[in-house]
Amino acid sequence: MRMDLGEPVQHVSTALDVVKRGAPDGPVAIARPHRVRAAADWFLAHFPGEVFYAVKANPSPWVIDALWDAGVRGFDVASEAEIDQIKARYANAQLAFMHPVKSRRAIRRAYEKGVRAFALDSEDELDKILAETDGARDLTLIVRLAVSNDAASLPLAHKFGVSTAAAPALIRRARAATEEMLGISFHVGSQCMRPLAYKQAMLEANRVIVQAGVVVDIINVGGGFPAIYPGMHPPAMDAYMREIREAFEEMFVAQNAKLWAEPGRALVAEAGSILARVDLRKGDALYLNDGAYGNLFDATHVHWPFPVALVRERRSNAKLAPFRFYGPTCDSMDAAAGPFMLPADIAEGDFIEIGMTGAYSVAMATRFNGFGETELVFAADAPWPTLFAASAQSLEPAAPVVRLADRKGRTRRSK
Ligand SMILES: *Cc1c(COP(=O)(O)O)cnc(C)c1O
Repeated sequence: MRMDLGEPVQHVSTALDVVKRGAPDGPVAIARPHRVRAAADWFLAHFPGEVFYAVKANPSPWVIDALWDAGVRGFDVASEAEIDQIKARYANAQLAFMHPVKSRRAIRRAYEKGVRAFALDSEDELDKILAETDGARDLTLIVRLAVSNDAASLPLAHKFGVSTAAAPALIRRARAATEEMLGISFHVGSQCMRPLAYKQAMLEANRVIVQAGVVVDIINVGGGFPAIYPGMHPPAMDAYMREIREAFEEMFVAQNAKLWAEPGRALVAEAGSILARVDLRKGDALYLNDGAYGNLFDATHVHWPFPVALVRERRSNAKLAPFRFYGPTCDSMDAAAGPFMLPADIAEGDFIEIGMTGAYSVAMATRFNGFGETELVFAADAPWPTLFAASAQSLEPAAPVVRLADRKGRTRRSK
């Protein structure tokens, strides 16, 4: 893995090593590039299309490097800063600007920097894109469709996506606006627990495509691929791939149509954890040196269980008991109800490792109230259950799908 010069890098086996060596005053973000690598290897081997990593899930250089080393070349970006960050590191990266609402300046700058793929979910945004690229004809336009988020643990519906009623007209306009590729995208919601949700969304997209009566070149199934959290064990990742593959075979799209996916969480969740210290205990309330304004925004606000473990040189024999967390800031919203199960004898000065925080953790940290300074340490272990246990090689590789034209002159996939 490539490291920037001057980047302070500490390597340990496990979080306990950090405690033994003496942890800093603030929280420690523990990075596991080998877990990003395992997830990326799996996705590249099993997703029957192109993978665009959703940068917002975790833009850390070590994540981008691990993905690149695995062979990921596509990145889903949502801002000029994300474009610059990826381009500066990997000039050949393939960028897709998948935010359906962009500033005019961001559109213009993105085009100047070589970005050609743009998402949109309204006629006005299409007008903005065409105006700011001076009517460019070489755009890949991706129309984002609103689909059900019922299977998601973290629904993202409502904010983005054109309704299925308004979609055909928008798709026809987008088709006429480009000589390059036209795509349809959607997002089934984050931490999607039902593989079938992808198939249903794709068949919904198919109905819209048939109504629009145009040739579509890209089906972008978005993100939403899950990770394992306590009490939230999703089906095997293979089941998601199967539904996507089956649905794609049924779709009326161009003969050489491509599948895209934009996984965020699934590629990075397992690869990060946070080591936080207990600065005070009041009954079942633990006051930590990290919280909702730091690296635990998601762990606080999504209200689902994150795995926690006491990290102490001498193991505790105490029974597990439920605890609440408070973060270090003076804001009373800096609190996570949990319950987090930890040994009942936990005390001031103890360290807690909060796992599965590779996604939407360090990426969302603020410096509110003077907190948030986080040290980065690399670890070699894999302490939590994985959805990518088997090596990519030992599993069935993604078979190419042959597409045949049907009688209507449209095309479909053969089995
Ligand atoms: C956030 C986001 C993703 C990634 O979602 P995950 O649930 O983390 O996989 C993918 N695509 C778009 C457009 C997004 O905004």
